[in-house]
Amino acid sequence: MILNLATLLEDSARRHPDRDAVVLGDTRLSYADVDRAADQVAGLLVDLGVQPGDRVALSCPNLPYFPIVYYGILKAGAVVVPLNVLLKGREIAYHLADSQATAYLCFEGTADLPMGAEGFAGFQQTPGCERFLLITADPAAASPIEGARTLGQALAGRSGPFDTVATNETDTAVILYTSGTTGQPKGAELSHGNLVFNALTCNRLFGNLATDHERHLITLPLFHSFGSTVQMNAGFAVASTLVLLPRFQADQAVALLQREKITFFAGVPTMYWGLLGALHEGVDVAEIARTMRVAVSGGASLPVEIINQFQERFGVQILEGYGLSETSPVATFSDPERDPRPGSIGVPIWGVQVKLIDAAGKTVEGADQIGEIAIRGHNIMKGYHRRPEATAEVMRDGWFRTGDLARRDADGFYYIVDRAKDMIIRGGFNVYPREIEEVLLTHPAVSLAAVVGVPHSCYGEEVKAFVIRSGAVTEGDLIAWCRETMASYKYPRIVEFVDELPMTATGKILKRELAGR
Ligand code: AMP
Repeated sequence: MILNLATLLEDSARRHPDRDAVVLGDTRLSYADVDRAADQVAGLLVDLGVQPGDRVALSCPNLPYFPIVYYGILKAGAVVVPLNVLLKGREIAYHLADSQATAYLCFEGTADLPMGAEGFAGFQQTPGCERFLLITADPAAASPIEGARTLGQALAGRSGPFDTVATNETDTAVILYTSGTTGQPKGAELSHGNLVFNALTCNRLFGNLATDHERHLITLPLFHSFGSTVQMNAGFAVASTLVLLPRFQADQAVALLQREKITFFAGVPTMYWGLLGALHEGVDVAEIARTMRVAVSGGASLPVEIINQFQERFGVQILEGYGLSETSPVATFSDPERDPRPGSIGVPIWGVQVKLIDAAGKTVEGADQIGEIAIRGHNIMKGYHRRPEATAEVMRDGWFRTGDLARRDADGFYYIVDRAKDMIIRGGFNVYPREIEEVLLTHPAVSLAAVVGVPHSCYGEEVKAFVIRSGAVTEGDLIAWCRETMASYKYPRIVEFVDELPMTATGKILKRELAGR
């Protein structure tokens, strides 16, 4: 079947040419503007010799350039390789070489995030990558990096529509780099079909978006699957307006919710936690609540305490989804038509099957039994780019093994217990950090908690909690708080108070880093 992910943008540009597609501060680009600019990028890439199927890497924060270049690459029939904006030169070179990118577009960055210099260094270390274009905030600006041509210079004088290359549904559209469950970053190859299905299914799940005009706040990085599918591709499919926030800062996010009359917010749990903490006196919570319609969480377990507080402040029930880069990403989602089940990741989305398996790969039957989540359906990646062994490790008989542990209740709703690798084994007992984090968060003086296992001479591992506190509380108080409601092998014996927790660019807490402290 002929299918190109970029047609989502093209269709919306035909139907709503004048509607704002992206907003950044005072800059507003309409759907026609974005589609036209993406056409120019596609034409340029083809003229530079980029062929259908070639990999083109992109390093860009949440700026209007992101969708323009992303869809431009797709229109040219090439494959987008979005890179984390925090990568350093050596890591960029690894990604360029591993994906066999032949071209690389990189934003110049800012004084505190010199992405352009890192990107150009990475490019220079990668002999197979032949073309580099520097994206400058001002397209007319001269290149701040010697030897690097700017996208603005390359596009000067270029106009006219571009005929999107007719790709196939099974052709690779995007390669997303992920550590997966183990090891070095690997490129998950997602096809046009994977991503179109996932975006359209999201819209079905979010409600009747097709007839409304949604206004999304985009604080999730667009280089990650959560932001790119759930907000950008799904939003562009129904001509939503995307209000961009290049770096998540809770007070700025709250100001935008109010000023831009945001109807749709998607974030990882730490962003929700940040938003709730930024609702100081000057914020008109009632005004935000009037427009807010959909709130979606994913990427990490959403504490029930956050769901309750959000509901109380904004009158909106946060819907939770679950997935991985390898699953486009959405695999399960709350079922808004049935009773909300706080703490659940919902049910498999349309056309996707989920089962739980034991260590031997046998299906775990029965309600509330714990097993590893395995998934099959239209959302499963083609495989890891040029890594048949790594692919074979996670794909068994058509089922993708996630490394996440879950249980399913009698009504078919799934609950994440933890990541298999985050599970702590204390004295032979399995301890799931998430359960302890939930209990800690119910304490009024705890605003964020992360629980990890640390080495212990007798038990193998000991349970340790890192806590950001919002009021007066001691280590002894919190240990007692947990001991009251938890079995003796589980409750944390060590609590360390910290001012912040290490996080990924997507806002997930870096447990591995904490465990090493
Ligand atoms: P990524 O490939 O970066 O999207 O990370 C995927 C991982 O995020 C999964 O394997 C899960 O461990 C975690 N994850 C995603 N969604 C959820 C969720 N709703 N609850 C708990 N963990 C989640």
